[in-house]
Amino acid sequence: MIRRADEDGDGPTDSDRDLDEEFPLGDGTAAMEADVTCPYCFESMSITLDPGSGSHQQYVEDCQVCCRPWTVFVHYDEDGEADVSIEAADEGDSE
Ligand SMILES: [Zn+2]
Repeated sequence: MIRRADEDGDGPTDSDRDLDEEFPLGDGTAAMEADVTCPYCFESMSITLDPGSGSHQQYVEDCQVCCRPWTVFVHYDEDGEADVSIEAADEGDSE
């Protein structure tokens, strides 16, 4: 058996396991932006996310190109990866 000379001695050293129970938004691993395609003008662009607002988010944001409103759905998984989808927020309103 090999023992490392710099062993701490007390307690387990696998501190990464803390992330299993805690959403890692505060440590810089969460995605801060996402690529989306506008449902109106079909332009692709990046939108800025706010990880501090929680692991499940839904809000309205205007397209940067055509300024029409989207409903944005954001879901962060335990690794801080963002799953983002958008829908037209004013469908049927522009006829
Ligand atoms: Zn657009």
